Amino acid sequence: AAAARVIDAVKVYGVDDTEVRALDGVSVDFPAARFTAIMGPSGSGKSTLMHCAAGLDSLTSGGAYIGDTELSGLDDRRLTLLRRDRIGFVFQAFNLLPTLTVAENITLPMDLAGARPDPEWLETLIDVVGLRDRLHHRPSELSGGQQQRVAVARAFAGQPDVVFADEPTGNLDSRSGEEVLNLLGRTVREMGRTVVMVTHDPVAAAHADEVIFLADGRLVDRMQNPTADSVL
Ligand code: ADP
Ligand code: ADP
Repeated sequence: AAAARVIDAVKVYGVDDTEVRALDGVSVDFPAARFTAIMGPSGSGKSTLMHCAAGLDSLTSGGAYIGDTELSGLDDRRLTLLRRDRIGFVFQAFNLLPTLTVAENITLPMDLAGARPDPEWLETLIDVVGLRDRLHHRPSELSGGQQQRVAVARAFAGQPDVVFADEPTGNLDSRSGEEVLNLLGRTVREMGRTVVMVTHDPVAAAHADEVIFLADGRLVDRMQNPTADSVL
């Protein structure tokens, strides 16, 4: 089953002379309980695909689905609710609130939504991200790697159907990046979560179960069980 998918996805920015076809007929599914990486040269449409699949931006034509829900059929309120309840996000910038503790940052989106994280799930998550002894620290007291681990925990706190990560290791040194990638992999393999990650780094992509390759807004290749050498 697909946790998320797009069918015949077309995304056009601008009009006439300035028109850019960022997505030019992409169909791809992101299977549940799998870790999928999206690779491709700069400008190939990776971020656009992720944003449209996650309901952060709308397609010009074609369909984007989270589970069986087609996103273009939702009004703004329902789309906001769907993003809140079923999707998690990790970005290159950690986007943590400096005045809040680690524990408060992890549950902030749920607190704002008036939702309560499942306590057992939260305990497991805190152990998997390795932040138990940092729960009452502020982000400024953490390394970059630790801050991104907080952002990962925040993305998974509400047990979303799928977590989208856009260059999650882009701001990290290779060792911290490796920790965050291992962490994303563990959420998939040990906790049955679904992750879709945009990256241009072959070492990062090698953590995924499958890599899909974009070029000029088209899906040009896909590879199971990638290695850093094979995706270069
Ligand atoms: P990637 O993530 O692979 O670098 P993007 O999805 O960011 O690629 O961009 C794909 C194409 O769409 C590029 O040509 C880019 O310049 C263009 N593009 C992206 N966002 C916008 C936008 N908001 N307005 C106009 N063009 C855009
Ligand atoms: P990580 O393996 O998570 O990247 P580091 O090895 O970079 O962590 O950091 C080791 C320890 O040093 C961390 O436990 C953290 O508490 C502390 N530390 C690292 N960077 C900073 C920083 N910029 N400010 C405060 N403490 C830091």
